Amino acid sequence: MDISDKAKKNIYILWLLVVPLGIYLAYEYAPMRQIDWGILSLLIVLALLTTIFPFFISGTTMFLVQWVTLAVYLNYGILAELLVMQLCLIPIAYHMKTNRENAYRIVYSSFMFFLVSVICGTIAHLLGFELGSLVVQDVLIYGSIYAILYILLNHLFLYVRELFTGQKPKFFTKDFGWDLIGLLITLPFGLSLYFLQSYVGTSAFWLLGIPFILITLLIRLYSDSEKVNSDLNKASEFGHELAERMTSKEIIDMFIERIANMFPMDAAYIVDDLYGSFEILRAIEDGENKDLHFAHEELEKSLAGIVYEKGVPTLYNKQSEWIHIKPPFLNLEMQSVMAVPIYRNQKIEGVLVLASRNKYSFEAYQLKIIHLLCSYFAVSVEKAKYVRDAVAKSERCELTKLHNYRYLDRQLESDMEKLSLGQYNSLSLIMMDIDKFKAVNDTFGHHSGNLILQEFAQIIKREIGSGGTVARYGGEEFVILLPNYTKIEALNIAEQLRRKIEQTPFIVQADLDRAASEKIIFITASIGVSTAPDDSDEGMSLLRNADRALYTGAKQAGRNRVAEYVR
Ligand code: GH3
Ligand code: MG
Ligand code: MG
Repeated sequence: MDISDKAKKNIYILWLLVVPLGIYLAYEYAPMRQIDWGILSLLIVLALLTTIFPFFISGTTMFLVQWVTLAVYLNYGILAELLVMQLCLIPIAYHMKTNRENAYRIVYSSFMFFLVSVICGTIAHLLGFELGSLVVQDVLIYGSIYAILYILLNHLFLYVRELFTGQKPKFFTKDFGWDLIGLLITLPFGLSLYFLQSYVGTSAFWLLGIPFILITLLIRLYSDSEKVNSDLNKASEFGHELAERMTSKEIIDMFIERIANMFPMDAAYIVDDLYGSFEILRAIEDGENKDLHFAHEELEKSLAGIVYEKGVPTLYNKQSEWIHIKPPFLNLEMQSVMAVPIYRNQKIEGVLVLASRNKYSFEAYQLKIIHLLCSYFAVSVEKAKYVRDAVAKSERCELTKLHNYRYLDRQLESDMEKLSLGQYNSLSLIMMDIDKFKAVNDTFGHHSGNLILQEFAQIIKREIGSGGTVARYGGEEFVILLPNYTKIEALNIAEQLRRKIEQTPFIVQADLDRAASEKIIFITASIGVSTAPDDSDEGMSLLRNADRALYTGAKQAGRNRVAEYVR
């Protein structure tokens, strides 16, 4: 959570007012002891090494530098301790990915550590601690008081900083818990370092310093692999969840949302050539969807286009590494960028671009995980496409390419639902049946019958356009759903169709054996119409009513006519 510019300025002013003067006062008034520069250099090197190699445990970065600063204090007092601690803020600032925006954090840390050092040191002195004391009991007691107080004050100041951000802070955070665990390491090691360097001098570096650094390095290696493991676990879970999504939209939504949660980023973009040219399929910046449009050529010249061309996942740690490419869609506040190609069917079809305002935000292993996730993504999108195609195919009639009964059934239910919700005022249904079609088959053959059915389908499709749903109900029976058509309007359309059919010349092949035996014939159709909610309030009965109108009102009355359902 960031704080206002004014609050940042206050932190800088506070630092300037307190820290330089405070250092001077500590120099003048705090108890000090003759410095052994060999020992102090050793302690400084150890302190820096400890902060350069911190380790991560379940998302927390632990700097165990207190094991050295404690020894520095016990030896040389407040001034030496606070200066060493300030020095250690340099590697800490690096680890915290400090930039111009969040520099106030490190300045606040400097201020905070300064006060903590002064307060803890002063209290230990007031309680009676003598610098350089080798009375075991004294060192244990004062050292412990100092170290415990240090952690408590540290968290108190962090708590105060959170108050600045306007959040409701918690004192007993996860980090606090980890710091208490850290204390169980830093306190005994710090006291041991103090005693050891008092007795054996700089050899303490080899006896305790190097083993300590090596152990933290090993823990670091272990926790790094834990981190990779945990990310891999999340990735595979994510892969399964993606695979369960059935539509491309669901998949894209879920993909981008999860990726944004999994990695430390401020923006994510999917650039894709799904429809033959590059476009930004989805963009989110600071958790919000953005509608971004760029010309294909612009995207082609962008960072995404270059990664698309090369096909290699690419990691940029800071803006100076990519700024010359001038990606049109990347916000110029961004620093770290990962761009990963998305493969479908062994062909690159898109590029995922992730960006963060911080430098060095992403790690090489994350690039690999994203690469893996991109292939899950691509496979899921591909699968969704197959599912969509298969569903579409299963809902079409092969011969006429019209929707089939399966689709009609679903559409009828959905239209009736909309009617009941008041989204439609009415829903009319037209059912058509070709007259004496058996005779056409008998006379000109089944193939000619098929040609007529195809042509018949085209005619009604053209006449209805996008105003309704046209489906082949069965053999030579067709159904048209007309949302928001009243009975009168539907009867008019039906009459129009009847006339159109009656007047259309159909070409048939009179003799299958002779190629050039085409013949023109005319056909007619009988039509039944019913309308909801007047005639029925349920899909199936609307269909039945139209059927009844068709047979009793049109067929039985002589065919080639339109009949409406009457109760
Ligand atoms: P009516 O005026 O009473 O409707 O007479 P009809 O002959 O059209 O009715 P009937 O239900 O007796 O016959 C329908 C015919 O439609 C039977 C079948 O030969 C034909 N038919 C159904 N499906 C197809 C098809 O896919 N292709 C062809 N060529 N004919 C079909
Ligand atoms: Mg018929
Ligand atoms: Mg029939």
